[in-house]
Amino acid sequence: MAHSDSPLGNTKRTTLHRVPHKEVKDRAVLHQILDAALVGHVGFLQDGHPFVIPVAIARDGENLLLHGSKASRLFKTLASGAPCAVSVTHIDALVLARSAFESSMNYRSALILGVAQELEDDEKIRAFDALTDHLLPERRASLRPLNADEIRQTTILSLPMEEASVKISSKFPADDESDLSWPVWAGNIPIEHRYGQPIPDPRMTHPHPLPDYVKRWPEGRT
Ligand SMILES: Cc1cc2nc3c(=O)[nH]c(=O)nc-3n(C[C@H](O)[C@H](O)[C@H](O)COP(=O)(O)OP(=O)(O)OC[C@H]3O[C@@H](n4cnc5c(N)ncnc54)[C@H](O)[C@@H]3O)c2cc1C
Repeated sequence: MAHSDSPLGNTKRTTLHRVPHKEVKDRAVLHQILDAALVGHVGFLQDGHPFVIPVAIARDGENLLLHGSKASRLFKTLASGAPCAVSVTHIDALVLARSAFESSMNYRSALILGVAQELEDDEKIRAFDALTDHLLPERRASLRPLNADEIRQTTILSLPMEEASVKISSKFPADDESDLSWPVWAGNIPIEHRYGQPIPDPRMTHPHPLPDYVKRWPEGRT
């Protein structure tokens, strides 16, 4: 088992075998991938069958936070100590080669394996705040405080990122030399992720100006 300050991909099951030069060992890169993501796909087994479910994520140091309803199958299963895998992927470009075989995508992708712990009391509230602020930084402080029912109805899990791997593909088409003269356009088409214009909720009872933390956020995550 790896430690939180150890390099990535250093257990047998997180060692990359296919195209190993795309492996990244630096934990700072894992942090960047997770901090830029809103959603992770959580894989787990139930009655011997694998399920993969998308949920909101936020990073807290070397832990990944997840939250959901106490009644949720996913959260009940993970809170009982079931092992899980969380996958997070950003697609950065289409890589259009001269052949179908070499056509692909540029991506940044992370996988975390482990067993999540349920958080309680102050840790639970702090994690709730972290998840809220991850959705849109600085917003939590202006929201109605959580009430006891909301806290009770929610399970918050913390997954230690001790065992994780990162794979990054950032390249031009890797066509064979013999294909370079094939008469077709080849190259990359970058994929940009951006936020649109904010749309006020029609049920807003007072005319609130757009907060600075929204105005500061137009470029979004990268
Ligand atoms: C972008 C995004 C963010 C989300 N964030 C959260 C979050 O932070 N917390 C949270 O609790 N939930 C979140 N959800 C909802 C989440 O995906 C699940 O629906 C929810 O957690 C209930 O999961 P469950 O396994 O307990 O549901 P169950 O209702 O018990 O699942 C039963 C079956 O319903 C189907 N199903 C359930 N969820 C989905 C789904 N999302 N897509 C397709 N089929 C599905 C599957 O076949 C599943 O096996 C999010 C969904 C999306 C798309």
